[in-house]
Amino acid sequence: MKTQYSVGILGATGAVGQKFIRLLENHPWFTIKALGASERSAGKTYAEAANWIEAVPCPGTIKNMTVAACDPEFFKGIDFVFSGLDSSVATEVEGAFAAAGIPVISNAKNYRTGKYVPLLVPEVNPDHIHSIKQQTYDPSGKGFIVTNPNCVTVPLVMALKPLQEAFGINYVILTSMQAVSGAGYPGVPSLDIMGNIVPFISGEEPKIASEPLKLLGELQSDGTVKDASFPVQATAVRVPVLEGHLLSVSVSLKNKPASIEEVEAVWNNWKNPLAELNLPFAPEKPIVVTKEDRYPQPRLHSYDENGMRTTIGRARLTTITDLSFVALAHNTVRGAAGGAILNAELLVKEGYL
Ligand code: NAP
Repeated sequence: MKTQYSVGILGATGAVGQKFIRLLENHPWFTIKALGASERSAGKTYAEAANWIEAVPCPGTIKNMTVAACDPEFFKGIDFVFSGLDSSVATEVEGAFAAAGIPVISNAKNYRTGKYVPLLVPEVNPDHIHSIKQQTYDPSGKGFIVTNPNCVTVPLVMALKPLQEAFGINYVILTSMQAVSGAGYPGVPSLDIMGNIVPFISGEEPKIASEPLKLLGELQSDGTVKDASFPVQATAVRVPVLEGHLLSVSVSLKNKPASIEEVEAVWNNWKNPLAELNLPFAPEKPIVVTKEDRYPQPRLHSYDENGMRTTIGRARLTTITDLSFVALAHNTVRGAAGGAILNAELLVKEGYL
């Protein structure tokens, strides 16, 4: 198995792009060899172009690299690219890279609903990866697009997958309390969010309602996915937290659990399909259930297992739905850059890269 890859980052100067740079610094398989951003940044060194917002220093090897425009011409010799591109340009740019034979592992929403584009959380739907075979972006078959979902959807489907398997799901209602880093840089104006809560995030609720259904759907023999059929109703709220989205979730289940211990056992005993694969970014325990009433909290638990874990807490049987709980995951790690890196690692293992 080839394990040394030259990778590029599209949208390298943004919040997600910076997280890619931070997370890939010591990656055993992937080395950053090219950086792309807008015409505003192209031609500058990375240190000049990016307003570094990570709490660790920018790697020295990256600081002096010249940022290129996001044109496949400038990415020759790159094995694949990670994309943290703004959605206003992702359709055109990611499509051009795939057509040029450069695989794209994307965070943007643009291709998530594509008929043969895997929307992937490796622990939840690893088999969906094989939809790639039906893609026609690149006639040679080398270029393809794989996406990861919205940052709220990740902890949601991590928590729902075991419940779906064990009990079946009738419907889901949730409120997501979302960190400001989810809005990118510079993001939400400080006068809106300091000491405040904003009960609306443009475009977010429809994504939270639809993406879990593709992720929890079934891969068909023609490479399409038959969506799961239960409704998801979401209220997305921006809160003055830097990193980590906390979800308050209520679920109606087809088969009723006898006790909360039964539900917790389902989560605790769930068989992680990545357990034997030795992927560098795979968390040892992708779901952890805490019994501490005050937990999980974004500031304390977002970076558990390098930000790749989903923590479930406050689980209780309830009277109107059957079950309520909270779930927390790091939005720019598990919900964006780290999730995309894990997707790439699974693509390597499955022989697509
Ligand atoms: P961001 O901070 O605004 O960064 C956007 C990036 O896109 C920057 O590198 C920017 O480059 C680049 N860009 C903008 N216009 C461009 C153009 N015309 N051509 C080429 N590059 C261009 O946004 P973000 O929060 O990192 O999000 C990036 C993507 O990931 C979005 O699609 C977002 O929806 C998705 N996502 C974000 C999160 C999160 O938690 N933040 C989670 C999941 C998914 P310049 O600096 O040169 O302008």
